[in-house]
Amino acid sequence: MVNVIKNVKIAGEWKDLIIKEGMIKEIKAASNVADTDSYDARGLLYLPAFQDMHCHLDKHLVGEQWRSLQPFITLPKQLQFEKSLLETMENDVNTRVRLMAELMLQHGTTKIRTHVDIDRTLGLKHLEAVVELRKQMKGIMEIEIVAFPQQGLLLSDSVDVAKDALRNGADLIGGVDPAGLEKRVDASLETMFSLSKEFAKGIDLHLHDPGHLGKYTIDRVTELTKQAKQEANVAVSHAYCLGMLSDDELQDTYQALRENDISIISSVPIDRPMPRLQSMIDNEISFLVGTDNIQDAWSPFGDGDILRRGSRLAEKNGWVTDEQLIAAYSYITGRSLEPVIGEKADFVLVDAQNIQQAMAIVPRREAVFAGGNVIAEKGELLDNCR
Ligand SMILES: [Zn+2]
Repeated sequence: MVNVIKNVKIAGEWKDLIIKEGMIKEIKAASNVADTDSYDARGLLYLPAFQDMHCHLDKHLVGEQWRSLQPFITLPKQLQFEKSLLETMENDVNTRVRLMAELMLQHGTTKIRTHVDIDRTLGLKHLEAVVELRKQMKGIMEIEIVAFPQQGLLLSDSVDVAKDALRNGADLIGGVDPAGLEKRVDASLETMFSLSKEFAKGIDLHLHDPGHLGKYTIDRVTELTKQAKQEANVAVSHAYCLGMLSDDELQDTYQALRENDISIISSVPIDRPMPRLQSMIDNEISFLVGTDNIQDAWSPFGDGDILRRGSRLAEKNGWVTDEQLIAAYSYITGRSLEPVIGEKADFVLVDAQNIQQAMAIVPRREAVFAGGNVIAEKGELLDNCR
């Protein structure tokens, strides 16, 4: 099937995009020929679709009655609170994961990495819901699944259930604070790496531990990655410690992250330090962004819009020049900034002059395309992907 998207603004010029079998086949000067089969973008700006590399589809309060949260006191207390809150949810987990995926799609996010809770009481219930959703969303949304022992891989005795998860659809093994929560840095990390090796899966660790404790953990991750000599698919999410220590203190850590091709993933927090973007760039460390807590037990805020998060990334880092705003956009998309022949036709149309203005004003998504098909218009999802 061939689709034609007419009058798309790309680098200041109006173009027609010819889509074949979900891919960009041709990019032509706008023809202005009346054509009832084509989609007329009327000069709206082309933006590549987004990727959200850290989220939790299975535990949010979107679609639920308002719940009162409590301030964060300690991680174990917060985990207890979250567990009890999840037991009172009105929507079942299948409905919940779909609601969040739909929210992200209507913002223009067509690739995500979601951490999914697993533990001995929950088993694979949440994971199965996301695996099912991934089947339903095939061709529309790419979903990477992290088997996430939120209550601690060792602390909650979840190694067996993690193995089950890795056999049944999880792409990566997750973990959380090997020091602060698990209290066994080496044993916890070594278990993650042995699971990674046994099942040939990646690793994505939640690391909130501050300062030198966090740095020590990252240093162990880099050593274990080097020892494992595996294909580089290791990430550390949050890594607040990299925003707490000086660049001088972190030189060796930066070098090991770069040499072992380990990614740092941030949700761009405004209430605590984050890895310094300029240091990530200067040290050539792979850096990715996710929305993380969206209206959940940890935070009542968030709307699942990664463009808004990209805008926050630029603002928090004081990035205001055209070059910087465009660079900031590259952290929320895994795609070329302009359409490229042969790429999957996932893109967004907005009313903005250029990418830098879109980053600054976060406009409504006038249309979202996945595989060349329009799936959302004027910020609302269409029925073809429900
Ligand atoms: Zn998370």
